[in-house]
Amino acid sequence: MNVAIDSERLRAEMEELASISEADPPVVTRILFTPADMKARAWMMERCKAAGLSVRQDAIGNTFARWDGSDPKAPVVGTGSHIDAIPNAGKYDGVVGVLGGLEAIRALQASGFHPRNPIELLILTAEEPTRFGIGCLGSRLLSGSLSPEAARKLRDKDGESVEDVRRKAGMQGDLEQVKLPGEYYKAFAELHIEQGPILEREQVPLGVVTKIAAPASARIFVEGAGGHAGGVLMPDRRDALCVAAELILAIENAARTSGSTDTVATVGMCDVFPGAVNSIPSSVRISVDIRDTNLARRDAALRAMESASREIAAGRRVQIQIEWLNADAPADCAPLVVDALSAACRKHGQKFIPMISRAYHDSLFSSRIAPVAMLFIPCRNGYSHRPDEYASIEDITRGSLVLAETLASLSE
Ligand SMILES: [Zn+2]
Repeated sequence: MNVAIDSERLRAEMEELASISEADPPVVTRILFTPADMKARAWMMERCKAAGLSVRQDAIGNTFARWDGSDPKAPVVGTGSHIDAIPNAGKYDGVVGVLGGLEAIRALQASGFHPRNPIELLILTAEEPTRFGIGCLGSRLLSGSLSPEAARKLRDKDGESVEDVRRKAGMQGDLEQVKLPGEYYKAFAELHIEQGPILEREQVPLGVVTKIAAPASARIFVEGAGGHAGGVLMPDRRDALCVAAELILAIENAARTSGSTDTVATVGMCDVFPGAVNSIPSSVRISVDIRDTNLARRDAALRAMESASREIAAGRRVQIQIEWLNADAPADCAPLVVDALSAACRKHGQKFIPMISRAYHDSLFSSRIAPVAMLFIPCRNGYSHRPDEYASIEDITRGSLVLAETLASLSE
C-alpha cells in the first residue's frame, strides 16, 4: 500500500476554506450558524461527497462523512475536528484535522486500501465557545457530557436559543438523537496544531497526545462597599478590588503549590464597579480558569481557592460568591490509538514525542464514548487563535500521512 498525500490539493483547500470568513484575510472568523459557517459547512460537505463519502448531519449539525468498510456492522474508525473559528482567528486551528482527515481518507482510497471498519470524518459543531459561551457543544452532546435539556437553556448574546438557531440553520431531529452509543466507535484520532511551542522548540515534527488537560472555570463576584476616595478612611474600607487582588494571588498560589507544573491557573478578566478614579470599588467580577491533567490535583486547587476566598471574605468583611461554569474531567488517551499513532510515525520514519494537550479539544469529550488520541503538528511560535497562526504545508502533509496510516491500521 503506497499512501501519498496530495500536498498541493490540501494547501489549496486550506486557502479556499480560509477565504470563507466573516472578516478580511488573513483574519478568519466563523461563528456557529452564521452565513460564513453555513457556507463553510456546505463547501466541506461538497468536498466529502466528491470523495465518494456519504454525508449526514445530526440535530446539532455535527457532520459525518462515511467511507463504508467491508463489514458494515463493524464499529467506526473516526477522525476529524472543527471548522468554526473565534473572532480574529487564523486558518489552521481545527481545519488541519478536518481537511487533513479528508485528505488522509482520499489518500487511502487512491492507494487501493479497502477498510474493514467504516472510516468516518467528523466535523464537530462549535468547538469554540463564541456563540453560546460553552466550548465543544457538538462533542459534549455527542458524548452525553451535556444533556439536551441543558443545551436547550443556552442563549446567545441576542437571547436566541440553541433550539432556534439550529432549526433556522436547517438542522433536523431532536437533540436527544445526537448522543452516540458507547459501541459506535472503535477508535478516534484527531489531528491538530499544537497551539503551544514545544514541538517547534524541540524540533520534533509530531506529538502523540497521551493526556488532555481539562479546565474548571468560574465567575467570582466580590461585593464590598463603595464610597468617596477621600472621605472613607482606611480602617473603614471594604474595597472590593483589594479583596479581588488578594484572591487573585491566592489563586496563583493554589496552582504554584499544587506539587506539579501541570496545574495552571489564570484570572483573565476583571470588571471593576463603578470604575472611577475617585470612587472606592464596591463590586468586582473576575473570571478564573484552573487546569490540570490530573482531576484530583485540579480539584484540590479549586478547594484551596474556595477556602482562601472564605478566609479573605471574613477578614475583610465582604461577600465573595463563586459561580462554577464548568469543571470537566481531564482525559487519558486510549492506548489503542496512542499505539497506532506511534507505530504509524515509526513506519514512516518520523520522530515524535509523547505530549500533553494543555488546550482542550473535542477529543476531551469524545473520549467519554470512544477510545481517543490526538496527533499534534508544530505551529509557528506556538501561536493560535490569532491571524498569524501558521503551520507549514510540509508539517500538515506529514500529519495527514501519519493519520492516514493510523486510520488504515485501525480499520484493517
Ligand atoms: Zn481547535
